[in-house]
Amino acid sequence: MHEIVVNLHMHTRYSDGSGTHKDIAQAAMRAGLDAVIVTDHNVLVQGVEGYYRRSPSSSTQPGTSRVLLLVGQEVHDQDRDPQKNHLLVFNANRDLSSLADDPQTLINGAREAGGLSFIAHPKDPEAPAFHETDISWEDWTVQNFTGIELWNGLSELKTVIPTKFHGVFYALFPQFIGRRPLPETLSRWDELLARGRRIVALGGSDAHAMHMHMGPLHRVIFPYLFHFKTVNTHIFIPELLTGDVIADKKMIYHALAEGHCFVAYDLPADTRGFTFKARGLVQSAIMGDTLPAKGGVTLQAHLPASAEIRLIKDGQQISLWKNAVACTHTATEPGVYRVEVYRNYLGKKRGWIFSNPIYVR
Ligand SMILES: [Zn+2]
Ligand SMILES: [Zn+2]
Repeated sequence: MHEIVVNLHMHTRYSDGSGTHKDIAQAAMRAGLDAVIVTDHNVLVQGVEGYYRRSPSSSTQPGTSRVLLLVGQEVHDQDRDPQKNHLLVFNANRDLSSLADDPQTLINGAREAGGLSFIAHPKDPEAPAFHETDISWEDWTVQNFTGIELWNGLSELKTVIPTKFHGVFYALFPQFIGRRPLPETLSRWDELLARGRRIVALGGSDAHAMHMHMGPLHRVIFPYLFHFKTVNTHIFIPELLTGDVIADKKMIYHALAEGHCFVAYDLPADTRGFTFKARGLVQSAIMGDTLPAKGGVTLQAHLPASAEIRLIKDGQQISLWKNAVACTHTATEPGVYRVEVYRNYLGKKRGWIFSNPIYVR
């Protein structure tokens, strides 16, 4: 398996972002990403997918020399007030915004169009100091979506800006924002998993590269480059990216659908190298896979650097390792097992890695 680093969920000038697809590709290469998935609101932008290469002026800077840019969309009902129920749709062969007024119809439509659907920012609280409303997902009766966006960079910002002063502080020092997925979102995920469903977790940036004006001052806050170094989704694919857009796209979306990925906060330190695997009597598994409990299952996590590892079974923490680079646990009972990793950064304990589950049945 090969690990690739992907940033997903972001906006361009086709909706409410400030940059172009080219700007995003250049920032992604500087951040060292392998791929990005751009998701403008209620539009499926055509003709921009593909591999992008460095502009001559930035070819000497660190990073990757090419990046795969894919296009999905973020669909929501613009007539709804407040505009809740945002859905990320990837790999659908058509624009699905006409189905936005009914979330279940939209999810079904994404599936019928060969696509994957992920509930965007499941909890997204209001931020009254900035006249931002609550745009959480409301309709939890829905079925058959692929997964949820466990960590969204922008929803988290809304939880730390009770006043305009806080907003200015975090605009200037965005490295202090990221803490962990919102607790409501984590418990919602565990609740869905407890119903026996397979729900894939993703990390999304929701990058807009917004413009801030304060009197004569003008600044791009939370630029794409910053977002691309923070909340990423690391995906495991069976072969190295080939450079062929169609083949690589297929491989990435297949891995996402299977949950062969983890949610990473790459700002404190690069999370590349993390693994969470299981071995049973006759089979082995990676994140997203299912294994029989019979005969026992050995779960193993490895980190690229020491940190605090928490093993979660069915939403409850069952083991804790402090300052560890690896851990092993023998599971004899069926359950949904996943790992959370925390480390200290800028004076606080912060979430670093959130694995997708291994399902022991
Ligand atoms: Zn949204
Ligand atoms: Zn968005």
